[in-house]
Amino acid sequence: MGALHSIKKISPLQAIIFTGTICILIVIAGTAGFLVMQHDLLKKVEKKQTCYLELVDFRSKLIEYDLSRNLAHTITVAGEERKLSIKQYAGVLRLIYEKLLVQMQDAGLQPVAPMHADRQNWTVVLTGENLELFRFGLENTIDKAKVETKVAADELVVINQFFLFFILAVLLTLSITAGWLLHNNYRQTLLPLAQLSGQLKLLNRDIPESIHDTAEEIKKELAETEYSSDITQITESIMSFCGEIEEKNKMLDELHIRDEKTNLYNYRHFKEHLIIDIERARRHGDKVSLAMIDIDYFKQYNDTNGHIAGDHALKSIADLIISQCRMSDVPARFGGDEFAVLLPETDSVTVKEVAERLRKVIGAAQFSSKHQKKAGHLTVSIGIATFPGDASDRETLTNNADRALYMAKSAGRNTVVTFASMNIPQSKAG
Ligand code: GH3
Ligand code: MG
Repeated sequence: MGALHSIKKISPLQAIIFTGTICILIVIAGTAGFLVMQHDLLKKVEKKQTCYLELVDFRSKLIEYDLSRNLAHTITVAGEERKLSIKQYAGVLRLIYEKLLVQMQDAGLQPVAPMHADRQNWTVVLTGENLELFRFGLENTIDKAKVETKVAADELVVINQFFLFFILAVLLTLSITAGWLLHNNYRQTLLPLAQLSGQLKLLNRDIPESIHDTAEEIKKELAETEYSSDITQITESIMSFCGEIEEKNKMLDELHIRDEKTNLYNYRHFKEHLIIDIERARRHGDKVSLAMIDIDYFKQYNDTNGHIAGDHALKSIADLIISQCRMSDVPARFGGDEFAVLLPETDSVTVKEVAERLRKVIGAAQFSSKHQKKAGHLTVSIGIATFPGDASDRETLTNNADRALYMAKSAGRNTVVTFASMNIPQSKAG
């Protein structure tokens, strides 16, 4: 896990440089070791080969000695020809033989038993049966030297092959390690980007909480783990881009459901809530109330104070409606000077109290605008209906609240009328 985490910190180029450097160091160390070993082996082979050749030469000299035992012999010593008696020649052979023994020891070759013959009296060693034995021993030694030289040469070949395999193994390891590093680096560094792409997909949907959670998780991950600076930079810029889109989406959502002039919910959003709240109340056996509000003589107010002052009054009345609502209530503008408030889990008594309070608050307020310092007064008429007592579905509920409002207007305005108090049968659905 730790190794994988540190992989996030390195870039692909660093991964290649890292594995490449390690492999080059291994190759340098391996080659140096190989060269030393090869040099030693080569020396050994050379020494054994020299011994072998000199043993063969010695054997020729011995044959020559045997053939010309009774003759004075001519040999070349240090570049000058000298005539030697047989005894002197035996002495020379002894010197060559002793030098050979030292050389063989140095080359790691073992002389066979007869070669350890009495070195003092070489005319005896090199006579009759002794000479035969000596020559037999020499033959064995030559055979052995030949075999050992071949073994050492074979060893050299094996070492060369081993080195070749070593280089191939290092190259293979380099490729596998670099591939593994790149693969993990790629996966680890792309992880936050993959999460962000998931977040971007979510931005198309109306679930801002999940978007927020994902962004928070990525922020935490970035803070806890050290990614390479490139990846951190890219991730952070995408993240801030996501944040901006999220903000804009929220604004779009608000625009979609709000009335621009009053900032109350619009009719579309109100209707969606009406459907949901009525269904929920039906399932749970709850009550839902609806209050329809209309400003009294608003046309007159506009005519007297101007349209801008009228707009200002509309906004002020909307704020007063909001001030009297709970969080679960849905205050909306129906259009013109007409408003509606949907009150879930509210019975007819409570909604009447709320409506009366609202009527009084609005009636007591003074309306003015930046352009129109003169304060004006406005009142509202409110019609109320409650589900399921006054209506069995949403259309009937809206119609009956509207009928109560009409009744409030007829009754002289600035009043609240409940549908139940009208003593008329429920209007049919639709
Ligand atoms: P009542 O409801 O008491 O019968 O009288 P009213 O004068 O309010 O009735 P009506 O529905 O005939 O007039 C509504 C007026 O509301 C008409 C229009 O001048 C005004 N109005 C509607 N929408 C806006 C708006 O967005 N801004 C302004 N300033 N006035 C608006
Ligand atoms: Mg009106």
